[in-house]
Amino acid sequence: MNVMSRWSLRLLDQLLPPRCLSCGSGVQDAGRVCPDCWKKLDFLQGPACDCCGYPFDFHSAALLCGACAIRRPEYDRARAAVRYDDGSRRMVISFKHGDRTDYADFFSQLLMQAAQSLNMLSAIVTPVPLHKKRLGKRRYN
Ligand SMILES: [Zn+2]
Ligand SMILES: [Zn+2]
Repeated sequence: MNVMSRWSLRLLDQLLPPRCLSCGSGVQDAGRVCPDCWKKLDFLQGPACDCCGYPFDFHSAALLCGACAIRRPEYDRARAAVRYDDGSRRMVISFKHGDRTDYADFFSQLLMQAAQSLNMLSAIVTPVPLHKKRLGKRRYN
């Protein structure tokens, strides 16, 4: 980043100070959450179903959750970055339905961390495509 770009960013930060993506309080860097909101995110890093990533409460000899054992999904393996709960719900809904595309970079970093547990040499990350009607309403996948 050249001097002019850094200076422009500092000026922009003075005019529009960076805000927490979740609660809107002041943060050091744009596109991040504040420490309080970070603590509320429940990162899914423990034992989980080898296929769908459903979190287990404890380490188990079973590799698959009940649902995957009964009917294996069409995909091989999947992971989520955080539990969908009070700590993440507002951000996810704002991203999906509130035009908050500024969450994309933050979420992609969380997903990349979650995908590391898959130990795959290559991976495909793909959105679940929306139906044309819903895509027209939401405007992005
Ligand atoms: Zn916050
Ligand atoms: Zn499963």
